[in-house]
Amino acid sequence: MKRIGSIEINVHLKDTETKRFNNENKSKQFTLPIPNGELKDWADKEAIQTDRERFGPGENGKRVIIKNQAEKDLEKRLYRFNGFNALVSEKISVNRSVPDARSEKCKQRKYLAKLPSVSVILIFYEEHFHTLLRSIHSIINRTPKELLHQIVLVDDYSSKESLKAPLDGYISEHFPPIIKIVRNQKRLGLIGARLAGAKSSTGEVLVFFDSHIEVNYNWLPPLLEPITINSKICTCPLVDGVAHNDFKYRIHRNGARGGLNWRFSYKQLPLFPEDKIQSNRCHIEDPVMMGGLFAISKAFFWDLGGYDDGLDIWGAEQFELSFKIWMCGGMILDVPCSHVAHIFRGPMDERPSPRDFNFLTRNQKRVAEVWMDEYKQYMYMRDPEYAETDAGNLTRMLAVRERLKCKSFDWYMKTVAYDFLIKYPPIDPPSYANGAIQSLKYMQYCLDTMGEREGNRVELYPCAKSLIWPHDNQNWVLSADRVLAARHENLCLNIGKHTNERDMPVWMWKCVNGTYNNQFFYYDRKHNWLVHGQHTHLCLEVIRENGKPQVVANECISSRRRQRWKFGTVNNTMLDNFFHNMPTNKNNKNISPRYYDYDSAN
Ligand code: UDP
Ligand code: MN
Repeated sequence: MKRIGSIEINVHLKDTETKRFNNENKSKQFTLPIPNGELKDWADKEAIQTDRERFGPGENGKRVIIKNQAEKDLEKRLYRFNGFNALVSEKISVNRSVPDARSEKCKQRKYLAKLPSVSVILIFYEEHFHTLLRSIHSIINRTPKELLHQIVLVDDYSSKESLKAPLDGYISEHFPPIIKIVRNQKRLGLIGARLAGAKSSTGEVLVFFDSHIEVNYNWLPPLLEPITINSKICTCPLVDGVAHNDFKYRIHRNGARGGLNWRFSYKQLPLFPEDKIQSNRCHIEDPVMMGGLFAISKAFFWDLGGYDDGLDIWGAEQFELSFKIWMCGGMILDVPCSHVAHIFRGPMDERPSPRDFNFLTRNQKRVAEVWMDEYKQYMYMRDPEYAETDAGNLTRMLAVRERLKCKSFDWYMKTVAYDFLIKYPPIDPPSYANGAIQSLKYMQYCLDTMGEREGNRVELYPCAKSLIWPHDNQNWVLSADRVLAARHENLCLNIGKHTNERDMPVWMWKCVNGTYNNQFFYYDRKHNWLVHGQHTHLCLEVIRENGKPQVVANECISSRRRQRWKFGTVNNTMLDNFFHNMPTNKNNKNISPRYYDYDSAN
């Protein structure tokens, strides 16, 4: 395994510095002026009222359950192929009504009477026919005619027959002639498909959407107004959810700030108090867009060079575009008065990779090389694969950065994304042990969060390639707080009150600073034990339940190989002193909090 050579540590924000950035530097790039010009109430009140009178399965965003046993097989098959319940989708009208997601304040808001026209770009690959149609119908039904210049559908070389002649036929029969279909002659992936769509678009503003969405009432004017005021603003709607199992429309009222950790994972942190949606602010400055749904001036998009066309298939494009928007004089705003729902997929059959190389790592390296300056090393030091990856030719994007005199990544991190810099320090604070945790009895298995949230049990899953630099789901840390936490989530391993019960479940809960009762862990190197509890002790153990390996806690027994674990990296010096300076009571204020309690601050 190759390791990156020298790593300079030159980015470390002290607390006082962060406060200074908080107060003085906070995104002063633009203050959005009050719109200047005639205002108009854009909401189509009549259509909203008519929608309220619709009835039938799934209307008003209600859920639909399939009860007919004869359809269960088909339901399962379609679900697995699409990652959502496509049979339920077929039971629901393509014109279904949705719950009005707007707050009372948003309903009262007027927007500039003169707004630019848009090209809505929907890219699709093997999309479920009926669901694609609902996306288009919702746009046609809920977008002012005078603003909707065109809808550009990009078929990314799908093989499904329904997406060929039947789609063409449906469109010419049911929709006005503003719909254009671009058919890729080979599979380009999400990035290439969006670029192809953008090249065919003639509206003043481009709106990018996934192909399984439903727009909410009056979604467009709030997105367009900021762009009208300043064409270097990119806007994002608040993304509601359509549940993948029953198609219930779930309104998301609270936004979040998007950003990244040092493994190129998209992360969200709570809004700042002044950005709370209940407050009067119409816009939230967002360091990294969620990626699937956004609006941007066509001229600005092309001025930024579009997406880097060296990015292949999907991955890292949301970072690329977000970094360059901010660094090159623009701004990303989330607009809480605009709601668009997206179907977040559930479990599905894996599709074969369209490439025989790791395009994701390559994409990430391209973005790091062009935009992240000295910070790129914090990515590289966490995954040796970057060193072995050829990023390809970067001249076109480097020239964009040069031409637009874009600011440094240091400026971006410290001014725009400083809360991420605090939550995810470039250099991890010292810890007793970290990395993947491998079972020494069943060596193919490692502890894994399975991407689950708090309240779930920790599970076992085949180990990452590198125990030292595993992916997020297997990246654990026995932190200075003496808790065993998923490094990039606020998730700590927990065991209930110790009893004589056998095979106690091991849960993941929010890390609680300085309260050691249920989250205290020790790594006993002599026995390779992961010991839970400060006063009474239980050891993590692998058992087989119905043939499936499970993590439980039991009395520590040195002859049991099932209780032995290996950590990716162990800090022996620190572990030698583990029991020195132990806090004696749970209210001890000297305990340094490793985890910022963002969730409770929200
Ligand atoms: N897509 C595409 N080509 C691909 C992969 C995806 O055009 O090779 C489209 C896909 O149909 C969808 C969008 O890109 O409209 C985003 O992909 P997806 O919805 O699978 O991502 P998710 O939202 O699940 O993260
Ligand atoms: Mn999607």
